Amino acid sequence: MVPFTFRCMPNCGLCCRLSPVTVLPHEVYLILDEAEELGVDVKFKVGYTIVDLNNKVTLALSYLMLLNERNECPFLRNNRCMVHDKYKPLTCRAYPYLPRIIRYSLDRLSRTLTFEVKYAASTICPVVKEGLSNGLLIKLSTDPNLASQIFVNEYPAAMEMIEARRVYSDYLTYLWRIGEVDLVEDDGSYNYPVVNSFWFIRRYYPDLTIDKIISMSRARESRPSGGH
Ligand code: SF4
Ligand code: SF4
Repeated sequence: MVPFTFRCMPNCGLCCRLSPVTVLPHEVYLILDEAEELGVDVKFKVGYTIVDLNNKVTLALSYLMLLNERNECPFLRNNRCMVHDKYKPLTCRAYPYLPRIIRYSLDRLSRTLTFEVKYAASTICPVVKEGLSNGLLIKLSTDPNLASQIFVNEYPAAMEMIEARRVYSDYLTYLWRIGEVDLVEDDGSYNYPVVNSFWFIRRYYPDLTIDKIISMSRARESRPSGGH
């Protein structure tokens, strides 16, 4: 029997005031379109990056959508998400089931970009805090099957985000193996311009649309630990 099924509390909105929202490179474009349509001012900060020595660019694999001057997500209005029925970022759809570890690694010998993601429930969410015992929280972080039963609506979004990350790592790995890119970790010593990875990959694969990334992410079989 499932001990608890998560239901977001109406009119809470706490997670929209907590911290910047992690978004993937293609999501930046979707969010910018929505912001323009809704007249909302959104700002992003570059998140995780790697460096391509061939093209002398820093590739952004994630971004942070920043909170506004009221310390809220710019899409929060009267405690409601303005993009709830539009494109809602994967992080928001998965909340409070969130990555607690995201680790990318570059293997220069085999020219492979891999990643690992481990998810856990955020205890900042009052529903999680109330409803899940410590024992259950610990079990949840290692038991994807339990997570999928507790977070019925959120778990698929978390898996979709893993698969979307995999689209990026697979494309970049392929570009590396055919010699188009030469990837190294960004240790801060390179002063190359930052380029959105989605935009960058499309230089080589113009048919890789946002819709295609979304459908690939939804179609692939999900593996909760991420990586290869
Ligand atoms: S903090 Fe939890 S209950 Fe509140 S809006 Fe976010 S997910 Fe829902
Ligand atoms: S996009 Fe919507 S759900 Fe996500 S943080 Fe902003 S207001 Fe909240």
